[in-house]
Amino acid sequence: MTDWVRESLHPDYAQSLRVDRLLYDSETEHQRLKVFENATFGRVLTLDDVVQTTEGDNFIYHEMMTHVPILAHGAARRVLIIGGGDGGMAREALRHKSVEHVTMVEIDAGVVDFSKQYLPMLSQGAFDDPRLNLVIDDGAAFIRNTAEKFDVIVVDSTDPIGPGEVLFTDTFYGHAKRALTPGGILVTQNGVPFMQGGELTNTMRAFKALFADWGCYLASIPTYAGGPMAFGWGTDGDARQTPPEVLDQRFAASGIDTGYYTPQVHKAAFALPGYVARLMP
Ligand code: SAM
Repeated sequence: MTDWVRESLHPDYAQSLRVDRLLYDSETEHQRLKVFENATFGRVLTLDDVVQTTEGDNFIYHEMMTHVPILAHGAARRVLIIGGGDGGMAREALRHKSVEHVTMVEIDAGVVDFSKQYLPMLSQGAFDDPRLNLVIDDGAAFIRNTAEKFDVIVVDSTDPIGPGEVLFTDTFYGHAKRALTPGGILVTQNGVPFMQGGELTNTMRAFKALFADWGCYLASIPTYAGGPMAFGWGTDGDARQTPPEVLDQRFAASGIDTGYYTPQVHKAAFALPGYVARLMP
């Protein structure tokens, strides 16, 4: 009999992925973790039956959450990743030679260990990079207590249920702002606005109160079903206004080979369709 994983994120809508080969299925201290192979998406990681990342389409998500803030900033040396246990976000951040240090704070050591073993194509050696400092801790506790400052903070969290919930609170965003250098940028994953509009509105309300420049940008990731995904953007600097020719220069100088990110896509990603614009507070 063919097995399918039916995603349990929404009460009235589900997507299913065919399990061609189940590689792992186990309860960690924090969540239920599965990895399986699917003909279209390659290896698929689910936590509590919600798709986190796939071998096939993760490049879109990881490139857009790192290259947009890092290239807009232009001189990012210190990057903080909250979550990111599969290593894909660290992989993309570390592609920038200008990035001297990446701290990654992941609550679940099980996700890291297991991703190293079953999803090495996601981290591609990032866990062995001497510039990476991996901290196993709750991201909310880390950011509350840290005295360090970062040029870019990327919140690569699960959805706001379970351990990820604290990463969507006003308190967390306030602490994140305090941990930014002047002109630093906070980027957050905010779900698919067509399906989870309230989640984006809540984050945007908090960002509006905190940042001189706040908003979101979009990218479509096939396994995050329901239309484009939104990424929150908050900064007191003017990085969003970086001219296209400057982004072109920075991207060319980086020498990074991307599958989705281009400076043109970067600029266009901030254009919001009407239904998303109406979710802004
Ligand atoms: N891209 C995915 C999505 O949008 O569905 C999420 C990626 S996955 C790498 C998110 C990671 O956040 C998981 O490894 C999870 O363990 C971690 N996480 C959840 N809550 C956390 C918290 N409070 N502090 C740090 N990491 C957390």
